[in-house]
Amino acid sequence: MSENEKQESVHFIKEIVNDDLASGKNDGRVATRFPPEPNGYLHIGHAKSICLNFGLAAEYGGTCNLRFDDTNPSTEDVEYVESIMQDVRWLGFDWEDRLHYASDYFEDLYRFAVGLIEKGKAYVDSQSDEEIAAQRGDFYHKGKESPHRDRPARESLDLFGRMRAGEFEDGEHVLRAKIDMSSGNMNMRDPIMYRIRHAAHHRTGDEWCIYPMYDFAHGESDAIEKITHSICTLEFEGHRPLYDWYVREIGFDQPPRQIEFARLNLTYTVLSKRKLLQLVDEDLVQGWDDPRMPSISGLRRRGYTPESIRAFCDRIGVAKRDNVVDVSLLEHCLREHLNDTSPRAMGVLRPLKVVIENFPEDEVIWFDCPNHPEDPSMGTRKVPLSREILVERDDFREEAPKKWFRLSPDREVRLRYACLITCRDFVKDDSGEVVELRCTWDPDSRGGSAPDGRKVRGTLHWVSAAHAVPATVRLYDRLFLQENPMEAEDFKSTINPDSLEVLEGCRVEPSLAGTEAGSRCQFERLGYFCTDAKDSRGDALVFNRTASLRDTWAKIEKKMRSGSTSAPSSSRGS
Ligand code: ATP
Ligand code: MG
Repeated sequence: MSENEKQESVHFIKEIVNDDLASGKNDGRVATRFPPEPNGYLHIGHAKSICLNFGLAAEYGGTCNLRFDDTNPSTEDVEYVESIMQDVRWLGFDWEDRLHYASDYFEDLYRFAVGLIEKGKAYVDSQSDEEIAAQRGDFYHKGKESPHRDRPARESLDLFGRMRAGEFEDGEHVLRAKIDMSSGNMNMRDPIMYRIRHAAHHRTGDEWCIYPMYDFAHGESDAIEKITHSICTLEFEGHRPLYDWYVREIGFDQPPRQIEFARLNLTYTVLSKRKLLQLVDEDLVQGWDDPRMPSISGLRRRGYTPESIRAFCDRIGVAKRDNVVDVSLLEHCLREHLNDTSPRAMGVLRPLKVVIENFPEDEVIWFDCPNHPEDPSMGTRKVPLSREILVERDDFREEAPKKWFRLSPDREVRLRYACLITCRDFVKDDSGEVVELRCTWDPDSRGGSAPDGRKVRGTLHWVSAAHAVPATVRLYDRLFLQENPMEAEDFKSTINPDSLEVLEGCRVEPSLAGTEAGSRCQFERLGYFCTDAKDSRGDALVFNRTASLRDTWAKIEKKMRSGSTSAPSSSRGS
């Protein structure tokens, strides 16, 4: 752990909670919530918020609600509601009986709005959106008050009631809070509270034709649920005075406190539901759960574990300033967990036939191979060796440099777990491609060590040709070529055209026959893989490569420790 990470083990939000508990605020309760809008699938950025909110509740013996902020009928859908619940559960969190919807509060919110009108704190404005926007002013110019601002409360009450009753078209009237048109904070310039929207809602159907704006609904929903700490991302900092204004004017005792933290940004990754939706809609990926997507469902299908995502969220900590985290740290956390938990296996992606000339035709030797090099509790499996085997095409070179420790004429290598073989010759097809190797084995090297103690440095993975099981393997690479795709004029222009390579005709060891979809393993020397949750069947295996074995983060960290490079996450604006 670096100094940075140690300091963050009590991050600023915990300090706030500690202070509140010490002063007896909220009767010592800690209540948080995770408030997604059901207009897309969750992504790794949301995981940070989920871990933070559910994590705080768990740490302080409090509660965390799942609340759908479903105030915008036109972009929301039950498909998203269901995927979000599945993803939060998969990440390992439980909202128990605390599932809420902002739409459950529509009646309360309406009542609060009526209360504000009666108090003279809200009014119906009958101007168009364009007129209202034109009067808002900007940072340098005060806004202009609406001609309807001083409309008597009973007139606004009457209009608001008729807005609800459906007497008006979209856009004919809005309800606005009466705050301060000359405020330096634009959010306080009589913000809109309600709009007319003749649109069916995924939960309330046609019951409503007026819908509350996010700012009005959010704080009030928090207050209704007696949330103590309402944690959101930094872009809401400027909304906090409005948040406070609403809960104060409506008169909640123990109003919630909004706290902003820095959203997660990752290199080579786009984290915006709207942008991710574009990738899906324009068929640039194969759906929200495409294994190249940073969505939770995509990461899951890629083979990520919930443990690795939680470990990542822990390590990045919680900051007050925006920063960009190196995506290789996420991959590092993944590898750490997969290294401990993945059973090993052998598979050959681009097979090259090898005939072991002095191996008897009909003989098969079954080797007991450990499933994990360091964890005997993971058991063993049997792997067959026969006269014809397959090795990786890349593991042979006709002409090889001195330090080539793989196959080449007259070079000896170890077949993992099995024996030593020496390449004697090779066969080419008409096009000049090497299609077969002729080798011999040392029958006294069973298990893989030389009887005379001679040194054999290279160890290859392999499968027995007759026993191997066919498989399709999908190799994934980063979806974007540019470190910050959002810096490009069009983020889609930075998509990596080679982010998916599909290999047919791969061969894996027979112990994997019948593997269930969604199972993980490490193919020795190749990386971590999992059988695709949608497309893999026991008799037609499809593997996704979750991660290669190369850990670039480990290298960065090593360099950092030796002091030759600066902090791994480039900070902006701190
Ligand atoms: P996006 O910006 O991807 O469209 P959003 O903020 O519109 O996301 P919400 O459904 O409103 O999505 O988010 C639910 C919660 O997750 C909010 O509290 C939000 O602040 C938080 N959240 C969203 N993106 C991130 C992120 N990149 N890092 C941390 N928290 C995030
Ligand atoms: Mg949002």
